[in-house]
Amino acid sequence: MADFVDKATRSRYMAAIKSRGNQSTEIKMARLLRESGLKGWRRHSPLPGTPDFCWPKYRIALFVDGCFWHGCPRCYKTPKSNVSFWQKKIESNRGRDRRVGGKLRRMGWTVIRVWECRIKFESTITRIELSMLKRGWNG
Ligand SMILES: [Zn+2]
Repeated sequence: MADFVDKATRSRYMAAIKSRGNQSTEIKMARLLRESGLKGWRRHSPLPGTPDFCWPKYRIALFVDGCFWHGCPRCYKTPKSNVSFWQKKIESNRGRDRRVGGKLRRMGWTVIRVWECRIKFESTITRIELSMLKRGWNG
C-alpha cells in the first residue's frame, strides 16, 4: 500500500480488502441457497469473472457483489479522502463487471448479479428460480 493515503482511508481500505472475495457474503448466500433447496450449484467455477456461484447444468452464473467494491446505488459512499482514487477504482470494477457479464452472455450463460445488501431477500431466490425455469428446470 502506497503511503499517499491517510490513516482513516488506509484502515477502510484494509477492512474492504478483508471482505474482498466476500467470505461472509458468500457464506450467507450459500446458506440461503441451501435453505431454499435449490441444488446443483458450484462455487468459483473457472468461468470469466469467476462467478461466486453457478449452475453448470442451466448455464446460470450468479455474482454476489460487495456494495462497496461494486458501487451499490443504495449503499456506496465515496470515502472522504482520495476521492479520485476511489472513483477510478470502483469505476474500473464496474467496467470489469460489465465486460465479464457480456462475455458470459455471449457464451450462452444467464448472468444474475445480487447486491450484498439484498441477498437476504426472497427476490434473490425467485430470480434464480425464474432463470432456472427458463432453462428447463422443473422444480
Ligand atoms: Zn448495497
